[in-house]
Amino acid sequence: MRRGRIRVSIVGMETNMLDTDALPVLTGDIVTPDQPEWDLARRAWNLAVDQRPALVALPADAADVRAVVEYAIRTGLKIAPQGTGHNASAIASLEDTILLSTQRMRGVEIDVAARTARVQAGTLWLEVTEAATPHGLYPLSGSSPDVGVVGYTLGGGLSWLARKHGLAANHVIAIELVTPDGRLVRATADEHADLFWALRGGGGSFGVVTAMELRLLPHAAVHAGMFLWPYDRHAEVLRVWRDWTRTAPDEITTSCRIMHFPPLPELPPFLSGRSVVVIDGAFTGTAKAGAEVVAPLRALGPELDTWAPASPAALSRIHMDSEEPIPYLSETLMADALDDAALAAFAAPIRPGSPLMAGEIRHLGGAVGRVPAGAGAAGSLGGEYLLFGAGMLMGPESAAPVQAALAEFKAAMAPYGNGAAYLNFAERPADPATFYSDASYARLRAIRAAVDPDGRMVGNHPIPAS
Ligand SMILES: Cc1cc2nc3c(=O)[nH]c(=O)nc-3n(C[C@H](O)[C@H](O)[C@H](O)COP(=O)(O)OP(=O)(O)OC[C@H]3O[C@@H](n4cnc5c(N)ncnc54)[C@H](O)[C@@H]3O)c2cc1C
Repeated sequence: MRRGRIRVSIVGMETNMLDTDALPVLTGDIVTPDQPEWDLARRAWNLAVDQRPALVALPADAADVRAVVEYAIRTGLKIAPQGTGHNASAIASLEDTILLSTQRMRGVEIDVAARTARVQAGTLWLEVTEAATPHGLYPLSGSSPDVGVVGYTLGGGLSWLARKHGLAANHVIAIELVTPDGRLVRATADEHADLFWALRGGGGSFGVVTAMELRLLPHAAVHAGMFLWPYDRHAEVLRVWRDWTRTAPDEITTSCRIMHFPPLPELPPFLSGRSVVVIDGAFTGTAKAGAEVVAPLRALGPELDTWAPASPAALSRIHMDSEEPIPYLSETLMADALDDAALAAFAAPIRPGSPLMAGEIRHLGGAVGRVPAGAGAAGSLGGEYLLFGAGMLMGPESAAPVQAALAEFKAAMAPYGNGAAYLNFAERPADPATFYSDASYARLRAIRAAVDPDGRMVGNHPIPAS
């Protein structure tokens, strides 16, 4: 970091010259707007987002995080913790804000006997699933290998084992964080119990998480994979899948997608330049039991059938999510039921030639719909299906068509939505009340008011103080 006085955008300060001599000295780093590293440091995983914070802090450890929080308190700046920026598009503004990127705080320790993982704040899911694989212990990781464990879990955490085990947030044992007033605390069911409750689903409004301890699930056998058909089978596949989800056991969690791929040499031939319909997911149980469960889907004669025994690391990749930053916009909603008209309405905006690259329906229900004992703020998700549509921004001129197509998608699905939403899938500023029950939302607001009365934390979906 350079020392001296630099010009930054800090609204409300007498001068917008920041004295960098007063910046905290970190084991990690602080990047200021005049440095060559600035553009890389402020970059989010979703490249459609142009993040313009006052500073970027890259702490190396919890002591660094404390130093940054204390600096923010001294200067009146706010703090936006960020792991990867997968959900950066939901942040309303980074004005007067230090972007605190945990990307250098990495590390996983597996306690095989206790079946737990302790992760540093910036750890990615693939780092956990790879460490857990030799032990046959499954974390409740999501569909993307490079989503951050902490951001995902603070928002709920919908995994391929979700219908069996519920949300990942409810498998957290302990969370270490620096509170907005600069204290390093460990929150568990017994210590700082209100904070522990709020953090498990309430998002990044309550402090900067420095480490998390998670329960891992032992499974002798997990089978996972995908079925793929050409796009012209989509109506039939959607209907059969929807019918099948009505009686599918909790042991299986699946998603059904329509996808359009541009012709790119880096894509496998079965995807490059093609429009397809895909069902993927995971089953906890033996190959024979899994084959019986997916038999009605397999009877549709998929062109590709990749179902096979899956390690925790393999589960991280069945969905083929991009492992490189990409620019895109999205829309989401939740539904209790999808009749044939709803399926047709879902598919219509995701037609070939549409600016939308993908439309997805994830099957919820099972344990995702039941609040377990000792749950946090997101005990369950209130809907049977989670819907998602996304379009890539191939250049500035593609923003308007993608936005129009997303508006069409949202309007088409609105009659079937149940008014609820899932924090992690909401990729633009949303009313956080839609993520929670009324009682949970009221409790979250009261806890925010108690721990962060100055509104120092800038989360992706901030909980307002009551
Ligand atoms: C390709 C893709 C696949 C996905 N698949 C799934 C899935 O299968 N299941 C699912 O549930 N979600 C999924 N998501 C959504 C994902 O869980 C959210 O985007 C989540 O917020 C990502 O966390 P992150 O830390 O990577 O992102 P970030 O944008 O870095 O963080 C999101 C928010 O988390 C909070 N946060 C992060 N780190 C900290 C910290 N150390 N302290 C305090 N607050 C913090 C902040 O409020 C931050 O704004 C997916 C997203 C993408 C883009």
